[in-house]
Amino acid sequence: FKEVRLILGDQLNPKHSWFKQNDAVLYVMFEMQQETNYVRHHQQKVLAFFATMREFANALASLADVLYLQLGCADNKHSLTENLNSVLQLTQPQKFSYQEPDEYRLVKQLEEFEVSENTAIECCSTEHFLISLQHLDSYLPANKAPLMETFYRRVRKETGYLMADEKPIGGKWNYDHDNRNKLPDKVSVPAPLAFENDASSIADMLAKADIKMIGTATADKLDWPITREQSLKLLRNFMQERLPLFGQYQDAMSKRCYLLFHSRLSFSLNTKMLNPREVVEAAIEAYERDPDNITLAQVEGFIRQIIGWREFVRLIYWREMPSYKEKNFFAHKNPLPKFYWNADTKMNCVQHAVSQSLETAYAHHIQRLMITGNFGLLAGVHPDEMDAWYLGIYIDAIEWVELPNTRGMSQFADGGLLATKPYISSGNYINKMSTYCKDCYYKVSAKTGARSCPFNSLYWHFLHTHRGKLANNPRMGMMYRQWDKQDTEAQEAILSQAQHYLADIDSL
Ligand code: SF4
Repeated sequence: FKEVRLILGDQLNPKHSWFKQNDAVLYVMFEMQQETNYVRHHQQKVLAFFATMREFANALASLADVLYLQLGCADNKHSLTENLNSVLQLTQPQKFSYQEPDEYRLVKQLEEFEVSENTAIECCSTEHFLISLQHLDSYLPANKAPLMETFYRRVRKETGYLMADEKPIGGKWNYDHDNRNKLPDKVSVPAPLAFENDASSIADMLAKADIKMIGTATADKLDWPITREQSLKLLRNFMQERLPLFGQYQDAMSKRCYLLFHSRLSFSLNTKMLNPREVVEAAIEAYERDPDNITLAQVEGFIRQIIGWREFVRLIYWREMPSYKEKNFFAHKNPLPKFYWNADTKMNCVQHAVSQSLETAYAHHIQRLMITGNFGLLAGVHPDEMDAWYLGIYIDAIEWVELPNTRGMSQFADGGLLATKPYISSGNYINKMSTYCKDCYYKVSAKTGARSCPFNSLYWHFLHTHRGKLANNPRMGMMYRQWDKQDTEAQEAILSQAQHYLADIDSL
């Protein structure tokens, strides 16, 4: 072989220009304990990654030579560099190529990887994201506070998505304000498209290797798309059945359906089976075909997640790493409550968000931000523990996307680089956006007392504790004015209730 090309588990882009020329090329793919063990992953996440990699390798094998090392293979050294060393020693290629990894730890590992002097190394683009990292400085200059809205507008202008004559279609850039509704009982939610992929042989192999994982899985009916064809089917299904109400109910929470109107495309996108442009273009096409059924607010809300938020957090990650991983603005140090691992809590909202995550490896952004993230922040959990939980439990969690969303957006550990204020709320917001409170053990209207909603007292306790760091934030002023309006006795009762809860957080 003249060239060895490495394909990582999240680089499953069948449209990559690599595949136009495969003569004298050996593609290598590895299932490794380095990847299964750097954090404790959800079972469905490991099954889906390996199943998708195997499908990809099988399809590629009809075009090119592929060396695929399964986890159980005797030759597998379970370290990326050791596996590469073995392959390169054996094949002695003129060139070793890899695609730009999306994770800092893998970039470092490959940068430090040494090959023999007869082998050239080349790193090329994954051809996936809209914005190349070469242009990072132009989009997010190091000396300027990054603003998602400014970034998003620039990308809209450059791509022309939902634009006419250089102006946003409809006259507004952002329809977020229209998109904050609770789910009414009368609105029916379509059943999620089911996949029944058989990954039982992978499950057996993981059990044999004693890989420690979390969550549950039905391995012979794995409900995630593992091929590009399945991903495209999911994309079409989203356009037909979910996009019409996506924006309107994107912040709603309900026990009726774990997915509500969300797309569940994040796994297909983050493994690169789907390209963000084709997803956005499919949404715009659906809107243009049927504007009565899919309004501008729905499609704008959806594309903002993909060309705005997703690209933006990736650039933040690369601008701020590696120090971003150490940020802990509030110096929080509490351990993650045990119920994050088993859903054993009387708080109905947390119980549902965690049990759903353990069962499906998925929760939508408001469940992640305003239930589990909100509670972790109010409870003073160390951001390292929050990160490890999010990184492990969600099928779409890869560090470049998980870290800014968790440490930055949800935990405000970066002191406000990503979010302009901490995303915290009392029980009131949760009650407004969900059906959880009406059958909860705790009373959402109570701030103190044995059954008072923990979110209430912890919310005020958090504000009180971090006043020195937050009082000057213009977006926090109203909250502090509300707190200051309460008399000292009421304040003390709330703070003492919060301390009581914090002292035995696992029993909530
Ligand atoms: Fe969650 Fe409080 Fe509502 Fe219970 S009452 S569901 S703990 S917000």
